Amino acid sequence: AHQDISRVTSAKLFEKAKKFFPGGVNSPVRAFKSVYGTPLFIERGDQAYVWDADGNKFIDFCCSWGPLILGHNNGAIREAVAAQLDKGLSFGAPTRLENELAELILSNNSYIEKIRFVSSGTEAVMSAIRLARGYTKRDKIVKFEGCYHGHSDSLLVKAGSGLVTFGETSSAGVPQSFAEETIVIALDDKKAVEEVFLRFPNQIAAVIIEGIPANNGLLLQDKAYMAFLRTMTEKHGSLLIFDEVITGFRVGFQGAAHHYGIKPDIITYGKIIGGGMPVGAYGASKEIMAHISPDGGVYQAGTLSGNPIAMVAGIATLSQLASPGFYEKQEQTTKAFVQTLKSYIADKHYDVQIFTVGSIFWFAFTTQQRISRADQIDPQSMEKYKVMHRALLNQGVYFGPSGYEVGFISSAHTNEDLETTIQAIKQALDIVFQ
Ligand code: PMP
Repeated sequence: AHQDISRVTSAKLFEKAKKFFPGGVNSPVRAFKSVYGTPLFIERGDQAYVWDADGNKFIDFCCSWGPLILGHNNGAIREAVAAQLDKGLSFGAPTRLENELAELILSNNSYIEKIRFVSSGTEAVMSAIRLARGYTKRDKIVKFEGCYHGHSDSLLVKAGSGLVTFGETSSAGVPQSFAEETIVIALDDKKAVEEVFLRFPNQIAAVIIEGIPANNGLLLQDKAYMAFLRTMTEKHGSLLIFDEVITGFRVGFQGAAHHYGIKPDIITYGKIIGGGMPVGAYGASKEIMAHISPDGGVYQAGTLSGNPIAMVAGIATLSQLASPGFYEKQEQTTKAFVQTLKSYIADKHYDVQIFTVGSIFWFAFTTQQRISRADQIDPQSMEKYKVMHRALLNQGVYFGPSGYEVGFISSAHTNEDLETTIQAIKQALDIVFQ
């Protein structure tokens, strides 16, 4: 675990990539800025494993940041995509495949009645926000510190100082006037929610929250708090949006909505819904969706929306997820994995917690038993994650390159893979706390 793996080829590729792309990457977190060493350039994946350009093999717990709930190179997905290749890549016209995927989703989901496919999570959320504004004829939205909803302008906003303030842009290039339409409050704080509705009566189009916040650590919320958001939005004529880009088809086929038994007004999906191809979606009641163009006045479109390759990958994925017992097994496997590690941590008196839901887990280097808000995470604790991450890579275990990111277990992870990983994590923690 102390001996660093070779990253010579990855380093060469990274040098070249820096000539082509800002920071050498096409999405910032991939640059390994928050962990040790050069980013690994991945050559291929199969089942629970990825291989990098230097030939190192890893058990993968990033799983493309969530989409690969069936692991890499799933047979049914590959066959479905291969069969579609013979028929064409894109038509920009309706296909029966879109119907098939929509039917699979809607007939197994009691929280939405109509859906629209887009090509990314960002696009899904951006469209959902526009729909909420168009539907309510209000402009302001409320989001939570510690929730990520993609990189559209309205959502690249962070909390200002004070309990309830207008947001401040969290990216250059987002006009302050846009940020003023987004109010950012802390998670798990009912007072802040009450105050926001008092301060901005009849102005709030929607409150948006990640079904289970999983982009800034795993910030588990009480069901009572989520129910409170439902009650308050309803009372004030605002829509409640669950961003289920991560939780959709992850914590259950019907995602976080079913996990709590709470019906939001709009739900956004991404990641798993495309089985590794670029797909996002948003859905709502027939009445709300009637506001989308061409039926209604809220415009939203896409050349590659409903792309046939993406649709068949989605169908092949979701049909496997719809099989009885799939999620129960995933959850049991994850629970056992986490429990074994928790026992070790308790024996050793290490200051680290593992939070988990469904097949998602997150390591927090803290003594706090509960973390429900972003400001409860000590940025200093990320130094420990860096050490763990490096020790894990050296033992052939690939975690996401940031301590704020959660890990995912796929159905391709075997008991043996998980046992190997447990041993690697134990060793890594021994190094962190030596
Ligand atoms: N919403 C949530 C909850 C997400 O986790 C993400 C991506 N991590 C997005 C939106 C944006 O999705 P994409 O990266 O596909 O644009």
